[in-house]
Amino acid sequence: MKYFIIFGPPGAGKGTQAAPMAERYNLKHISTGELLREEIAAGTDLGMQAKALIDAGSLVPDVIVEGMLAKSFAKGKGYDGFLLDGFPRNLQQAQDLDAMLEARDESVTAVISLMIPDETIRQRISHRAALEGRADDASEATVTNRIKTYHAQTEPLIEYYKYEKKYHEVKSVGTIAQVGGRIKRIMDKLV
Ligand code: AMP
Repeated sequence: MKYFIIFGPPGAGKGTQAAPMAERYNLKHISTGELLREEIAAGTDLGMQAKALIDAGSLVPDVIVEGMLAKSFAKGKGYDGFLLDGFPRNLQQAQDLDAMLEARDESVTAVISLMIPDETIRQRISHRAALEGRADDASEATVTNRIKTYHAQTEPLIEYYKYEKKYHEVKSVGTIAQVGGRIKRIMDKLV
């Protein structure tokens, strides 16, 4: 199985680009944010625990997201691999993912990183708030904390994956199709 990660700050277009990528390369798309929103919508205990943290723009505990991830990995039948969207989000998660995959003689195939400047993040998120109605997009304070969390905890993963020679960066500006084309040029060489 191949294990791709789509990486980037909030609002970089990970979800938008992940859907066509998953389809094109027959990958199971796993969005940890989406899984958490499903838990919240279903009113589960896990969802209730996660909600306050998501609304604050903080990360949900590793053990929660990693449990959801393990369950999703078990549903990979018929796919050529997985496309992780929103995971890993800190160094511990990246190390845990490596350990999880190593235990079955597998490893992360590549990271596709979507890059946008900080000033574009807010614009994109406020546009998405109007379209999707996500509570964590609508609050300015939440968005500010998500950006902070990204820089403090998630951005260091760039060096982690550069060191592993798995890091590929794409400028996520222009149209959805233009960004998709840039991703395709990289992915076609990796699958
Ligand atoms: P996303 O849809 O990826 O923007 O995720 C929405 C929110 O869910 C994030 O701001 C976090 O609060 C939480 N979340 C999603 N993925 C993770 C993760 N890998 N680790 C911790 N929290 C996460």
